[in-house]
Formats: sequence, C-alpha cells, structure tokens
Amino acid sequence: MRAALAAATEDTIVYDLTGIGRQYAALRAELPDAEVRFAMKACPVDEVLGHLARLGSGFDAAGPQEIVQALRTGVAPGLIHYGNTVKSDRNIADAYRLGVRDFATDSREDVAAIAEHAPGSAVFCRLATTGDGALWGLSHKFGCSPEDALRVLLDARDAGLVPSGLSVHVGSQQMTPEAWGEAIGTIAATLEALHRHGVVPERINLGGGLPALGVLDRHGRPLEPPLDKMFTVIREGMERLRAINPAPLSFLLEPGRHLVADHGAIRAHAARLTSRHRADGTREDWLYLSCGKFNGLYEMDQLRYRLEFPTRPGEPLVDAVVAGPTCDSDDAYAQQGGSVRVPRTIASGDPVWVHSCGAYAVAYTTQGFNGFAPLPYTCVGGPAPDGESA
Ligand SMILES: *Cc1c(COP(=O)(O)O)cnc(C)c1O
Repeated sequence: MRAALAAATEDTIVYDLTGIGRQYAALRAELPDAEVRFAMKACPVDEVLGHLARLGSGFDAAGPQEIVQALRTGVAPGLIHYGNTVKSDRNIADAYRLGVRDFATDSREDVAAIAEHAPGSAVFCRLATTGDGALWGLSHKFGCSPEDALRVLLDARDAGLVPSGLSVHVGSQQMTPEAWGEAIGTIAATLEALHRHGVVPERINLGGGLPALGVLDRHGRPLEPPLDKMFTVIREGMERLRAINPAPLSFLLEPGRHLVADHGAIRAHAARLTSRHRADGTREDWLYLSCGKFNGLYEMDQLRYRLEFPTRPGEPLVDAVVAGPTCDSDDAYAQQGGSVRVPRTIASGDPVWVHSCGAYAVAYTTQGFNGFAPLPYTCVGGPAPDGESA
C-alpha cells in the first residue's frame, strides 16, 4: 500500500486487496458461524468484489444494478441478498429474473409486491434499531416495530413466501457493543412472538455497522472502537437466540465499512496552504487538498482521516483547516474542535496521503462537481499465482 502511494505521480485511490482479504479472514475467525454478505455500496469496485467473492463472501445488494455487478464476480445468485427495503415492482421483478431469492423488507406493502413479483422467495423483516452509539444511525428510514414485523412475516407466510428471518442494522461506524446487545434483545422478543403464531425463522441477519479502526472523530481524536467486546456480545447474542429458537438458526452479517475502510488510501496533492483573517480579525490557515467531499472524502463532515505528508517529514507544523477543492463550503472538515497539524512549508503539488478512506469513497463520488473529476483507482496485492493471498 505505501509503495503504491509512493509510486503514484498522479492522484489515485489505492485499494489493498491483501489487506481486505486479511480483514475478511479475521472477521470469519471471530464469527465463524456467520456468513458474510458484503454491503456493496461501501466499495463497488470490481476487483475488490472479485477478491471477496473468491474468498467465499456473498453480497448485500441494494437493487438490480448492484446485483448485476455482484454476478459479474461469478458468485452464485443464492449468495446475493437484496438488502434494501425500498424497491419498486420492477426492481423486484428484475432481481427475481437475475436469480435472487432473498429479500429484506419492513412493510406489508413491500411483502405483497415481493409475493407478486418474486413468488416463493425468502424474506427477512428488518427491525428498527435506535442507531444510538453509531456515527450514522439508520433508524429513521429503515426497519419496523416488533409488532409490525409479526404482521409482515405472517403476511409473507400467507402469501406463499418463506418467512425466513429477521434482520437489523445497528447504524454505521457503531462504537458501542451495547447496540448489538439491544438489537439482539429486540430480535429475541420478536422471535418469541413469531413462535406463538407458529412461525419459526431459520436465519438472522445481523447487518452491518462494524467500525473502521483507523479513522478519527470530527475533533481529530482517534475513535478506538472496542471491537473485541463487540464480537463477544455478538457471539453471546447468537447463542442466546439459538437457545430460544426451536429450529436451527443460521446467521448472516452485512459488513461494509469494516472490511474496506482501513485498506483504501488516497494519494492526493496539496492545492495550497493559505493564511487569512476572518471578518472578526482571527487568523486561520487553510490547507486545500486536490480531493474532498465530492471525490473520495464524502464523510469528512463526520470523520477525519489521518493525513501523511511523505515529502515533508519532520518539518515545523502549523494548524490548518483541511478542505477539498470545490466551491462548496461543506467540502471541508468540520471546524469545531480545532484543526490539523500540517507542514508549514508544504507547497502546491506536494503529495498528501489520506489514510483509512477505503469505505464509501467511490460510491459517493460525483460525476465531477465543479469539474473535479472522480479519482482513478488502483488495486494492489490480492491472490498470488498459487491462489494464496500475497
Ligand atoms: C449500508 C448497509 C450495510 C453496511 O453498513 P456498514 O455500516 O458499512 O457496515 C449493511 N446492510 C445494509 C442493508 C446497508 O444498507
């Protein structure tokens, strides 16, 4: 990864396939009983998806276009989960035609449409979570109450679908083990209600939310999520759910960020370091980068990334606000809580490495906001000729 960043003479985003593969293996080792459906929007890059598919991962797709991209890896349609609760009749019919038979849902209207356009398929009902403890809670748009979930899965059964299971998503970049504990409590209560109505699910989808480790919060402090504790809570939760379900339960995970965030980095360059006084007389230095919110750093309003200035080691530092190149004032790190230490002598054109930005970089890139083009990407590492990871 560092060699590829150093070798780059133009801006690019570099993905380390070996690192992504290691991350996948580590997750499988922590939770061997859970199958992985990688959430594609976190890194819809063919080489990354292909590498994960070779390692045995399936995919969580949000619509027919992502399903087509997943199928290009050669993965079996049975390993693709339509995880988006929002779909039109046509989306459902297209997915069914492409061979997908697992659908997430959270409403009776959507179940009726699945029954019509994807007859006989399996459905997971997504339960709402609070989103507490996550940098991005997803509770407003997705998921229903346990009472609704009961109605949704009874509808599914009555309409000839397979009421396969329940799903949750505890919110993206979740920082607290308790979030999984609470979600598992909600799943347990819903399972018991389903049992009373003669429905015995066979699968639980614990969603995404596992964090990136190398990012900083919006004030520049390391986030340091308690990952080991999270895995312990998830393992104990799986045991608890298995103990109350009268039939065997299998588990799915839909990690996105966790598998790719720390294994992607951008080689950008400095546009300029400037110093100016605001209307109130205070002085502020700004470091403008060649990439920003619209081409690689979309999450810069909530996160900060570690920056490295490879050609200016050990030089005196100044505090600067870091911003992207466009005419949009949101294209900057949130200013609260200070700024970033940058070399005082940095010149226009000097390389800047942005670390741990492998998640959600490509998917959130615009077509060229203000004419600043999407970054090209490079993949390094991956399978060696003997099939082992290099
Ligand atoms: C985005 C998404 C994920 C991945 O979330 P992360 O926080 O990146 O792990 C998983 N499942 C669904 C349904 C999603 O929409």
